[in-house]
Amino acid sequence: MTRCVALLSGGLDSMLAIRIMQEQGIEVEALNFKTMFTCCQDTSAQAARALGTNITVIGQEDDYLDLVREPQYGYGKGANPCVDCRIYMFERAYKFMEAVDAQFIISGEVIGQRPMSQKRSDLNIISTNSGLEDLLLRPLSAKLLPPTKPEREGLVDREKLYDFQGRSRKGLIQLARDFGFTEDMIPTPSTGCALTEPEFSNKVHDLIQIQVGDTRWDYEALNVGRHFRWNEQVKVILGRDQKQNAQLEYMHRMEDATSTSFLEPISFRGPNALITGPSTDEALEYAAGLIYRYGRSVEGEDNIVQVSQADQQFNLIAHPTERSENDKTIASVSLRPAC
Ligand code: SF4
Repeated sequence: MTRCVALLSGGLDSMLAIRIMQEQGIEVEALNFKTMFTCCQDTSAQAARALGTNITVIGQEDDYLDLVREPQYGYGKGANPCVDCRIYMFERAYKFMEAVDAQFIISGEVIGQRPMSQKRSDLNIISTNSGLEDLLLRPLSAKLLPPTKPEREGLVDREKLYDFQGRSRKGLIQLARDFGFTEDMIPTPSTGCALTEPEFSNKVHDLIQIQVGDTRWDYEALNVGRHFRWNEQVKVILGRDQKQNAQLEYMHRMEDATSTSFLEPISFRGPNALITGPSTDEALEYAAGLIYRYGRSVEGEDNIVQVSQADQQFNLIAHPTERSENDKTIASVSLRPAC
């Protein structure tokens, strides 16, 4: 039996690509690629259920961060290295294809739909650099692309593939309806990837461009709290609510944490904070000042913050300082490199 592997994000395009194969009697094994910046496993599992396919979720390895730090093919509008990321995904999909004894791979890419990664030239780069070459079939735009191996060998009927291009979703939605997709099976467009979000991207570019020696923990911490940069080595992260305050405390205890101090207001209500990088006296004063700014500090009283470090615990009185009162969050400052 002909079998293919489909990269399934949970979006409409990848669902349609799968259904096109199923219409030709081809068995589909869905593969969802999870990175520390994506959030769509539920959506992809639902989509797989609706389409009646198996789904396997694979995660990134630590080398994924290298391509986020220095993508060969650059960034999209945010910190999204989509071309490099797609190559990385397809390299892993290739191994999966061999493991499940499938003959080729499909994806829901549509020529010209996304400014980065779906230009015709990008599609070529992705096929070639992932090693898949003409084993990678894009059913939605296949008629605009040279025939792939499964088409040439008759495993797939090229006549029953499509020639979609551009950003409009109208034709794709119509095709979904023709295939009998119910309205709740047609998801709204979303990359589900934090690297495309402007504020998150600012935090990523801050790490990449300013902080030498960033680690996986530093990237994971980007999902929590307000981030302030004190200097090249030091950053302060403040919880936004009780849940994030608890998360910061937990993250501080992790083995690979780069935080050196955990700060907690004990005489007034306010956010917890972490300092990453050296906890100098100035950095501690700055972090306590930020807690003062965002907390319910009481004027005229000692606003006490407890500092926990690896080998000691002590208290500080929080005071506002010029920088702690006026600094903007990293998320609100764009450091995006010029393309
Ligand atoms: S949006 Fe994110 S997950 Fe999707 S290809 Fe781009 S970088 Fe990768």
